[in-house]
Amino acid sequence: MRTRPVIAIDGPVGAGKSTVARKLAEALGFRYLNTGAMYRAVAVAARYNNIDECAADSRLEELLDSITISFIAERVLLNGRDVTDELSQPAIGDLASRLSTRRKVRAHLHQLQRAAGEEGGVVMEGRDIGTAIFPDAEFKFFLTADLEVRAERRFIELTARGVSTTRAEVLSELRERDGRDEGRELAPLRRAEDAIVIDSSKLEIEQVVSAMLARIEHRGGAQ
Ligand code: C5P
Repeated sequence: MRTRPVIAIDGPVGAGKSTVARKLAEALGFRYLNTGAMYRAVAVAARYNNIDECAADSRLEELLDSITISFIAERVLLNGRDVTDELSQPAIGDLASRLSTRRKVRAHLHQLQRAAGEEGGVVMEGRDIGTAIFPDAEFKFFLTADLEVRAERRFIELTARGVSTTRAEVLSELRERDGRDEGRELAPLRRAEDAIVIDSSKLEIEQVVSAMLARIEHRGGAQ
């Protein structure tokens, strides 16, 4: 029995999940968990070991058993080494998405994510939080936005981080990744039936956070 709720935020690339989830967690005094970063950390480890989504189950298992993923504030550590800057590379996002179609990878991260949120008091964002990781979450949001808006946001974010790319490249990467995330057999990206949909196309981050806080307050708050 949880004393504080789990808040699940799912949605496609570029809908603003990470910023919104971080701010919402801050406002509520909750922990924030970015599950996409965990898939990306696995992708970084896989790349070091020349492993891709076609690897045998046994190789994936060996890889997963050999790594630890931890968070220190905003930094992500893979086996104790800070890999945060590598995580935002488009190639890592792509490999993360391909690896996330594998049952071994999903099952391993499912267990870690479930354990990390079990006590509640957490805002968890990803693709399958409200449908697979915490189908029993007290609050579920599905955050989305028009494709062009999401691509533009992602382009601005990547160039601000010094990643060299073009709008056309970002749009095609985003289409491909969303298509794979929505179309995969295991825990595909979709809205949980009981999730509240928020379209952020015409909203500022603060407006999205306020809308979420209002929903939470309306249902008796987050305590
Ligand atoms: O959220 P982010 O774009 O960093 O996630 C990288 C990839 O990890 C996604 O494209 C998706 O394939 C995978 N992912 C997932 N389930 C999650 C979070 C991320 O399959 N809960």
